[in-house]
Amino acid sequence: MKITAITTFLVPPRWLFVRIDTDAGISGWGEPVVEGRAHTVAAAVDELSDYLIGKDPRHIEDHWQVLYRGGFYRGGPILMSALAGIDQALWDIHGKALNQPVHKLLGGPVRDRIRVYSWIGGDRPADTARAAKAAVERGFTAVKMNATEEVQFVDSHDKVTKVLENVQAVRDAVGKDIGLAVDFHGRVHKPMARVLMRELAPFGLMFIEEPVLSEHLEAIPELAALSPAPIALGERLYSRFDFKRVLQTGGVDIIQPDPSHAGGITETRKIAAMAEAYDVALALHCPLGPIALAANLQLDAVCYNAFIQEQSLGIHYNAANDLLDYLVDRAPFAYNEGYVTIPDGPGLGIEINQQYVDERVAEGHRWRNPIWRHADGSVAEW
Ligand SMILES: [Mg+2]
Repeated sequence: MKITAITTFLVPPRWLFVRIDTDAGISGWGEPVVEGRAHTVAAAVDELSDYLIGKDPRHIEDHWQVLYRGGFYRGGPILMSALAGIDQALWDIHGKALNQPVHKLLGGPVRDRIRVYSWIGGDRPADTARAAKAAVERGFTAVKMNATEEVQFVDSHDKVTKVLENVQAVRDAVGKDIGLAVDFHGRVHKPMARVLMRELAPFGLMFIEEPVLSEHLEAIPELAALSPAPIALGERLYSRFDFKRVLQTGGVDIIQPDPSHAGGITETRKIAAMAEAYDVALALHCPLGPIALAANLQLDAVCYNAFIQEQSLGIHYNAANDLLDYLVDRAPFAYNEGYVTIPDGPGLGIEINQQYVDERVAEGHRWRNPIWRHADGSVAEW
């Protein structure tokens, strides 16, 4: 079997799909995207395709190593996301060729389903209590919310009060048994992170995410000592080589690699195994589209330390199109009792509606995250 063509599709709301075709008539799909840099990743996929055309798609590990090491420069969000989408598509082809789900090729499932959580409250956490209640009514047993809006290095205490009131309102609405995660989103700098971590200690949070940006890893052990809540991070790290520093530094309880940013199924599985050796849990990052989620679920099936899965159904970013719109059959992502069943179909376990993809490519997107500023006019982390 040989690769004959690699085509990208830029589709709303903010995604990029790749389809790899073969001379055997089998095509595989992947989702190589960095939110806000989709065109750049598409260009990187195009450059990487020069090597892949004519190759056997089933030599996945070798292709991964060549695409990672062979270009001299490596790593980072653009190259690792391009590689991620290609890797997902190669696994999809391999599974379809053998008529087996990808997780069977990776050693078989250790679980049949995985717990999922729902985002509530949007970019600027508002009306979170009502949204949490609605999510629980839809069957979710866990939700995640942004903690804050803009926060200066050292900010006024009313911002802290607002966070605590918000979290309390959610707890009051859904009770103490619903998993509640709070994402600092890298918006908070260390001085205020210390304050917030201490004040949030009584709320029994499922985890606190990105209490500071991952480039401030050395601050994590100090922050971890202030709070009983597990600390999660990793959506902006891209390889084993990035994650080894996390695991060596300590203080992180949950890693959150994104299989569309961190080198695909091949690399994310290795990252997960490294974390398992440190007794660190896995909660894959996935605010993306249906191919990304399908790849995530194949990994959840085989990674023992996975305990929950992010997913984007109804997320605040999905105004133009939602998760299920691009699927021929929506059944693989049916949620039940707060869980999603691991898809059992060949390859990634989903079938993409090519005709609908072609229609939506005509619209495309130029999604960018908002640029926020502090009251003094300086740029704020979003
Ligand atoms: Mg996050």
